[in-house]
Amino acid sequence: MVTESPPRTHRAEFLESDRIKTIDVPQDQHLPLIAESIELAMKSDKAPELRRACSEFLKHLSEFYKVPNCEVRVLAARPPHVRESWSMELFGDYSPDTMLIRVWRQTAVRKEITSYGTFLSTLCHEFCHHLDFEKFGFPDSWHTRGFYERAAVLYHRARGTPLKKLVWVPIGRQRWRIDWQRTSRGR
Ligand SMILES: [Zn+2]
Repeated sequence: MVTESPPRTHRAEFLESDRIKTIDVPQDQHLPLIAESIELAMKSDKAPELRRACSEFLKHLSEFYKVPNCEVRVLAARPPHVRESWSMELFGDYSPDTMLIRVWRQTAVRKEITSYGTFLSTLCHEFCHHLDFEKFGFPDSWHTRGFYERAAVLYHRARGTPLKKLVWVPIGRQRWRIDWQRTSRGR
């Protein structure tokens, strides 16, 4: 995971997004249970059930954060036209104008089925874009360190897995990438 360079405009908001490293998450058991139903629907390959589970997952989160509900579309494959500015989205995207999240089941190039972990992580990632606009009121939603940290907090809560401290290394031009080896080791 790699962050974006700060934009020319809205720098203050960008830096704020970078600074907010965590987010409140629902503490009840409902969220992990819905996540499990997503996993089951993926395993049994039932498209309507998967869509319903994803929709419930996002509805539960939207209620918790008191933001408008967002719609979700689960596609078999990546659509041919994905907005260029969001081209780093490999498994899903979000449109702030329509508040629509799209996630797809297959990787773009090798046409492999996305794993449950990647799928759930994508859903959380796209929902965090929704939160950037609707909860934080940012004029755009950037891939900052804070953004990835918030998405990770949400993902691990949903999956019921322990949160690891993300280790960032600078790659120049005020950009960062996660050092996964050090992140797994926890230092
Ligand atoms: Zn994104």
